[in-house]
Amino acid sequence: MIIRSSDYAISAVREDQYPKDNLPEIALAGRSNVGKSSLINSLLNRKNLARTSAQPGKTQTLNFYIINDEFYLVDVPGYGYARVSQKQRQAFGEMIQDYLETRANLKGIIILVDSRREPTKDDVAMYNYAQYLNLPILLVCTKIDKVKRSQVNKVMAGLKKKINLNYDNVTVLTFSSVTKLHVKELGNWIEKQLK
Ligand code: GDP
Repeated sequence: MIIRSSDYAISAVREDQYPKDNLPEIALAGRSNVGKSSLINSLLNRKNLARTSAQPGKTQTLNFYIINDEFYLVDVPGYGYARVSQKQRQAFGEMIQDYLETRANLKGIIILVDSRREPTKDDVAMYNYAQYLNLPILLVCTKIDKVKRSQVNKVMAGLKKKINLNYDNVTVLTFSSVTKLHVKELGNWIEKQLK
């Protein structure tokens, strides 16, 4: 995929605030600090379009980025942030659910997990939920540059133990925003979902 333009478009917490121009959308979800902003910036070849978070969990809105005037990338707020209250967590959850369950324009979801850690309960729940919604899933193992080459297979085995990859619409990709490993493949997957 060739990125010709990318811009922040709009933030939303409710349906009436979503973009109205009926373009396809690709959502990105993952635990706070998993490397989501860095992945967006790497994909779009921008330094700081998506703010990388010194303060995890700060983004509490759905952030829509318009790409090539063709589709939206939708940054879903990071889940599993311990320092927000139960009430806030619930509001988060509802906002995410409303979006994922009702948005007809949504063509696929990119779920990010940290290569250095076993998938958390939240990661597994998000994956199962996306599967239940029948969404095409790209499962991205971030920060793979932090994993020794000899340990990569072990990371994949750990992932398979926790996540049911027996779903015909899932693709798994290792990724690094530092070395830019698989940035191109990430773009290719998105392009495929937009057709
Ligand atoms: P977000 O909260 O999911 O948006 O995560 P960020 O993109 O802000 O990244 C969280 C932290 O992980 C930052 O300190 C990043 O520099 C670091 N990080 C993100 N991606 C990578 C990566 O691919 N490799 C390494 N080594 N660090 C990364």
